[in-house]
Amino acid sequence: MNQMMSQDTLCVQGGWQPKNGEPRVLPIYQSTTFKYETSEQMGRLFDLEESGYFYTRLANPTNDAVAAKICALEGGAAAMLTSSGQAANMYALLNICSAGDHVVSSATIYGGTSNLLTVTLKRFGISCTLVDPDADEEELEQAFRPNTRAVFGETIANPALVVLDIEKFARIAHNHGVPLIVDNTFATPINCRPFQWGADIVTHSTTKYMDGHAMCVGGCIVDSGNFDWEAHKDKYPGLTTPDESYHGVIYTQKFGKGAYITKATAQLMRDMGSIQSPQNAFLLNVGLETLHLRVPRHCENAKRVAEFLKARADVDWVCYPGLEGDKYYDLAMKYMPKGTCGVISFGLKGGREAAARFMDRLKLAAIVTHVADARTSVLHPASHTHRQLNDEQLREAGVDPSMIRLSVGIEEVKDIIQDLEEALGE
Ligand SMILES: *Cc1c(COP(=O)(O)O)cnc(C)c1O
Repeated sequence: MNQMMSQDTLCVQGGWQPKNGEPRVLPIYQSTTFKYETSEQMGRLFDLEESGYFYTRLANPTNDAVAAKICALEGGAAAMLTSSGQAANMYALLNICSAGDHVVSSATIYGGTSNLLTVTLKRFGISCTLVDPDADEEELEQAFRPNTRAVFGETIANPALVVLDIEKFARIAHNHGVPLIVDNTFATPINCRPFQWGADIVTHSTTKYMDGHAMCVGGCIVDSGNFDWEAHKDKYPGLTTPDESYHGVIYTQKFGKGAYITKATAQLMRDMGSIQSPQNAFLLNVGLETLHLRVPRHCENAKRVAEFLKARADVDWVCYPGLEGDKYYDLAMKYMPKGTCGVISFGLKGGREAAARFMDRLKLAAIVTHVADARTSVLHPASHTHRQLNDEQLREAGVDPSMIRLSVGIEEVKDIIQDLEEALGE
């Protein structure tokens, strides 16, 4: 579909384009395998000589249609779905990093990604330097090494709600001849398209707003096609020199702007296999069809809730980048003038105990380990996701022991505020 088409139309109609007599609704290709007339034809698919389907771990038409929709929404050149957001970030990095390589990442990122970078990838021989996203360029420059292969950050960090200065990060990445990877989960392409600001690769946990109904865990990687791998040939031999496992194909030469995603599919998905199930991709697509309607409502509701909390005497602090006076308000207005996200964090004056009492009294907002779906939900990181850490360790991880993470849903905002009011008490 025409990439010039508006986001709203792409949400509804992007991706699946039925031909004459085909189903109007994206079908679920619930098949692991695909049939061919000749053995020779299937052989050409295995050699990447022709595009086509043969095994769902490598490609499936349902998944491809949904990836194409997300690709168009981000304004990218190529995209792939993965089984989870974690798999998306892992593949996005492993596609261009090997043992001995190094990554520079914003320190304020999702806990799972932080652990992936600093613990699990370290075991693979890939090291990482975490940087303060608010540091000036001179200070950020010092994190780079000759073996740095990528820079990583989140448009809006989960749960710190720090807004990334994407242009600044893109500039320092490009000064060092490496791509910027941005996890755009919280903003979604409805509020921010990181490629417009210089990011090269975008990742998503589609589990959040894209699905939007807390139905399926999933992920996506989108490549802008803008990073010039050939210009930095020595850094990215996997893309620019022959792949012996595919009879010497050179991805950049054969696939052009599709090189990065083709390599990730042909090598990482083939060997590691974190494929999204076509059933889940179908449900994700149903979610995407209303993304452009839901995201603005999440943002409107969250802003009203943030203003309500800010005005309460028993609320110690409120963090919401869409709220005037927030530390990240100016960056949010630059990168996300239409709205930020539906997630707010705040602390009560009574700290940890008051947080538990407040949460237990909520009726409409549910205590769940999830954010960014249609239903308002709440989590206390110190008692849940970050339970193993003591108060000092919590502060180091950027999580105040009093922090309540509130994911504002798309219910009537008056009902949400009434629930909060009753739970806070007089
Ligand atoms: C949830 C989340 C992830 C991990 O995604 P899963 O789908 O849970 O694997 C990664 N990044 C961000 C910003 C997230 O919010």
